[in-house]
Amino acid sequence: MKYLSTRGHAAKAEFCDILLGGLAPDGGLYLPETYPQISREELARWRSLSYAELAFEILSKFITDIPVVDLKALCDKTYTAEVYRFARPGDDPADITPVRWLEPGKLALLELSNGPTLAFKDMAMQLLGNLFEYVLAKRGQEINILGATSGDTGSAAEYAMRGKHGVRVFMLSPHGKMSAFQRAQMYSLQDDNIFNIAVTGMFDDAQDIVKAVSNDAAFKAQYRIGAVNSINWARVAAQIVYYFKGYFAATRSNDEEIAFAVPSGNFGNICAGHIARQMGLPIGRLVLATNENDVLDEFFRTGVYRPRGTAETHVTSSPSMDISKASNFERFVFDLVGRDPAVVAALWKEVDAGGAFDLNGTPHLANLPSFGFVSGRSTHAERLATIRRVWEDYGVMVDTHTADGIKVAQACGDLGMPVVVLETALPVKFAETIREALDQDPERPQELEGIEALPQRVEVMAPDVEAIKHFIVDKVDG
Ligand SMILES: *Cc1c(COP(=O)(O)O)cnc(C)c1O
Repeated sequence: MKYLSTRGHAAKAEFCDILLGGLAPDGGLYLPETYPQISREELARWRSLSYAELAFEILSKFITDIPVVDLKALCDKTYTAEVYRFARPGDDPADITPVRWLEPGKLALLELSNGPTLAFKDMAMQLLGNLFEYVLAKRGQEINILGATSGDTGSAAEYAMRGKHGVRVFMLSPHGKMSAFQRAQMYSLQDDNIFNIAVTGMFDDAQDIVKAVSNDAAFKAQYRIGAVNSINWARVAAQIVYYFKGYFAATRSNDEEIAFAVPSGNFGNICAGHIARQMGLPIGRLVLATNENDVLDEFFRTGVYRPRGTAETHVTSSPSMDISKASNFERFVFDLVGRDPAVVAALWKEVDAGGAFDLNGTPHLANLPSFGFVSGRSTHAERLATIRRVWEDYGVMVDTHTADGIKVAQACGDLGMPVVVLETALPVKFAETIREALDQDPERPQELEGIEALPQRVEVMAPDVEAIKHFIVDKVDG
């Protein structure tokens, strides 16, 4: 399988060549040259596979430059009940991503948050950690991952990369701006290759430092600086697997159609659903849910994509969906415009210059219905009401992001098929809002009781680019 850029001016590459990089050299995103088509026979055979077996079958269609025995071993090592160990009472931990029916035959949750950091990002990031270690060892290389986080992504990256040979992680977070639980999750890691840096500033200051360091090409090359952001193709590929697994768990035969409802921010999660559907999985509808930051809902309702500025980006109680532009959206638009890179390049010329684009009056908008999307948004008040209603009606506690997915799924009315909502985090990560909604503390897995009291390993630093570079040099060369 070869990969091409959505903007058409990068050489075609193999999976391992794009694994450690970010954007394609022409500024586009990598996508497979074609989507593998899954035959009826294959789909029938896959129905009874374990998660790890299914991951191998699907990923081996996208990863053709790793020997199959090695890829199989990587999948087996990643998708275990031991790694995804926070399954809830009544779940079979061997399922990895259990389906929990709220209303049998109508509404279900696909549990994607049973991994080490209690959010769906673990589903892909854990595989990425093993893939990085494998490919770096093969090539005799090292990588120093530099990132900024306000919570979910940084902790998922650290738990995926901890103890991995050839990898160091330097993760910047805003000092004093994360919850005690989030701080404890990240800062209590004692692994030698994980470096937490609490920057005395806001998230944007931390983000600016990462950009400044990455823009120093000489430093970046000499210190092998890399990233694991949401545009990484391997993360999208790994996420395709649970759409298949969730489909098999929620249906009895491959003649049935279901809808998936996806709490969305950077369009990474639902992009994997779109690709699963393009591969032939019988997904009737993809329900895209946003919070108050509704740039994606606006596109699917109006055909206008209008990224927002920082001033227009709301801080909400589903913070992992607080985005101003959706970094993976370009992948979908590439398919929408018939995979014409010249069209994508022209549209993103506007976006990259801080503008917007409008597909009204173009032939592309007429293609949109065939992709099966419906969309909606959810507000803080609706989030609280949904958390309350799901607790009262079904005795299930959901987090704020999952609540946005349920709210939008239900606002769509009867789609004529079961709706499976992707559960993207556990409520314990967003305790403050759970208390506001339910007047009680969220359930916490036993293993995580008292983590706030564990010793923490974190460097507090000023938002000073040179000082941070110096810190990295010291750890890498020292
Ligand atoms: C990252 C994240 C999302 C958004 O996923 P995208 O792939 O960015 O669309 C939703 N919910 C939670 C809890 C997340 O961590």
